[in-house]
Amino acid sequence: MDSGLPDRLGLLDLSMPDPKSVEWTALPEGTAVCNVAILPAGELSCTRSLILRSAEPDAKLRMPDAAFVIEHEPSGERLVFDLGCKCPVSDYPPAVKQGLANWDPQVDATVVDKLKQRGVDPASVKRVILSHKHWDHVGNFDAFPESTQLIVGPGTKAAALPGYPANENATVLETDMPEGRTRELSRESDAWVDVGAARGHDLFGDKSLYLLDMPGHTDGHIAALVRIAPDSWVVLGGDTGHHRALWSPTYPEAWRSPVGVFANKSEGRLGCMHDDLKLAYQSMAKAARFDLEPNVVVLMAHESFLEGGAPEFPDHLTDVAALKATIRKREAAGDAQ
Ligand SMILES: [Zn+2]
Repeated sequence: MDSGLPDRLGLLDLSMPDPKSVEWTALPEGTAVCNVAILPAGELSCTRSLILRSAEPDAKLRMPDAAFVIEHEPSGERLVFDLGCKCPVSDYPPAVKQGLANWDPQVDATVVDKLKQRGVDPASVKRVILSHKHWDHVGNFDAFPESTQLIVGPGTKAAALPGYPANENATVLETDMPEGRTRELSRESDAWVDVGAARGHDLFGDKSLYLLDMPGHTDGHIAALVRIAPDSWVVLGGDTGHHRALWSPTYPEAWRSPVGVFANKSEGRLGCMHDDLKLAYQSMAKAARFDLEPNVVVLMAHESFLEGGAPEFPDHLTDVAALKATIRKREAAGDAQ
């Protein structure tokens, strides 16, 4: 980190607010529920210090890359939250390909192929939700049929489009967010309510699935709060935080770390993984506040602490207390660090 570059954005002075200071609005009562299932959608490895400031400079970090299948029980509608890595990785636009060696993405099939392998017709997926525009989340939307729609957070289109090849420097393909099939949530014209620790848009209007405004990693970064039983919830956090050492309220104190800071040579200053670190830390505190609730479990896209310890699609997540217990046990053991 001692690159000699100035910390012009003041990144080293920022930290995550105390989760207990985050305003909390009681989660609403309701009976409409969704099934949520983990669908592994790739794997990444990077230099650990990109993510965690406390890391040894040469240490590596392996991270899974998850998609989640959501089934809205009242309507039977199936959705997918995030699409993981693109398969094959040679299909990424040049602006992404040039940095891939730093991440070593491993992916053996598109989410669509993974669904088919499990006997699911991709046409049954009515909507795909992207937490944000980054390459390890956009996957292969073009593999879904024309009838599948895409939902992205406020400001995503302006930040990501036009895609490649119309814009040769773009990090998404035009086919990743096609015109006419991409709905961008609006902070002005869509309805948002306070729910738990965040602002949420009630997607079905029955209090079963809220899309949460969780910016910072990128503008328009969203998460999902999903009711999996009348009094049990899962938060799909996307890239709100890349590792539990950054944000988890139960992570052992001695191993916690602020966000990694590194030399951004092209900008001549220090940089980090987040577009707006102050906002990103506020969103991490919101995630942590959700996680403090005994009936809510927060799962980020690169969640390593549940690997092998939770059911995967087509089996869905049912026991929030058991999931939290598995995560806590692994946090305490330093597992998956
Ligand atoms: Zn990511």
